[in-house]
Amino acid sequence: MKSVDEHLAGILAAVPLLPPLEQALLEAAGGVLAERVEAPVPLPPFDNSAMDGYAVVAADVAAATEDKPVTLPVIGDIAAGDSGMSALRPGLTARIMTGAAMPAGADAVIPVEWTDGGTATVRITRSAPPGHYIRRAGEDVRAGQVVVAEGTRLGAPQLGMLAAVGRSHVLVRPRPRVVVLSTGSELRAPGTQLAPGQIWDSNSFMLTTAVMEAGAKGYRQATVGDEAEEVRTTLMDQLVRADAIITSGGVSMGARDVIKEIFERDGEIEFGKVAMRPGKPQGFGLLEGVPVFTLPGNPVSAYVSFQVFVRPALRAMQGLPPDHLPTLSAVLTEDVTSPDGLRHFLRGRLTSDRGEHSVAPAEGQGSHQLQSLSSADSLIVLPEDATRVPAGSRVDVMRLPS
Ligand code: AMP
Ligand code: MG
Repeated sequence: MKSVDEHLAGILAAVPLLPPLEQALLEAAGGVLAERVEAPVPLPPFDNSAMDGYAVVAADVAAATEDKPVTLPVIGDIAAGDSGMSALRPGLTARIMTGAAMPAGADAVIPVEWTDGGTATVRITRSAPPGHYIRRAGEDVRAGQVVVAEGTRLGAPQLGMLAAVGRSHVLVRPRPRVVVLSTGSELRAPGTQLAPGQIWDSNSFMLTTAVMEAGAKGYRQATVGDEAEEVRTTLMDQLVRADAIITSGGVSMGARDVIKEIFERDGEIEFGKVAMRPGKPQGFGLLEGVPVFTLPGNPVSAYVSFQVFVRPALRAMQGLPPDHLPTLSAVLTEDVTSPDGLRHFLRGRLTSDRGEHSVAPAEGQGSHQLQSLSSADSLIVLPEDATRVPAGSRVDVMRLPS
């Protein structure tokens, strides 16, 4: 029996790094930048007003007060996007809007709130130092500065930054396309009637969502029964469009464990036991170079296996560190027992009080008991050598994506 760490290490050594692609910005969202992006121009590209107000020569209004306002002639309006007023001579002012280019000669902006808002002439009741409410060219980004580093996952702020430096396309390692297939003759689609002996398929929906939560693209397939040819054909058909495939079910020791039956013969996928609970039966291999994760059918086993093995692998395929879910240390609220020699993942609920985390194990830790997973927010991780862990012990806890 392999340890969790050995099985994961084998997977990480085998999964390919996805080749970088040139993608349009919105398609690149969630991708990992495979180049370093520099600003071709400074940002802002020109000095501009930080407020709606009046562009002035600061010295002209140095004496302005509530009691002795300074009145200046208004020579025009400068809106954001205007190509720019040539220059402002001393003794004059122009109305200026936020983001509009400062006219040459002006060295401060008086916000409209400090004036009577006049359009022909304006009464200014407060002074301002030179530079007041001016956003200087380059004060956000210098020309040539690296604005997004290679290896960065592109979230909303990074996409905004790339657009702000004028990029319409970037080179990224895209989000992996992951096909999810549930197998089992007992499975029916939610929304249909169940006959005796049947259950609704939950794994394919859960795993497809987990794929998306992990930052990849999930494609759920219709479930297939335990028919060897049908399962093989379906999987082979998906290879062309998949960067990875996840199956659930059919990997234990039963007479109809179809996934194992069809892929064990030719050795493309290696099946075995991993020292963990839940999730002991596992399989992994490359089919025509595409990583295939064959997860056990019990829903909690499938989910835990996804978080422990598949999520880090999907990250590695994009060139990200293959981190586990964020892990913190918490105090256990109840005694628990744990199987000797197996890494034990218990569903838990975290609470925190002034920075101190506590975790309560959920009722119902069977690997078929999905309700306790759906109301959990974390997985308590007990090491292989733990057998009895008393209340008050410190344990590692993985926070589930929320
Ligand atoms: P298996 O790994 O195929 O032996 O399945 C183990 C258990 O998980 C059985 O009770 C199955 O009915 C159940 N199971 C398998 N696949 C799914 C699924 N997609 N949704 C819900 N339960 C499943
Ligand atoms: Mg089955």
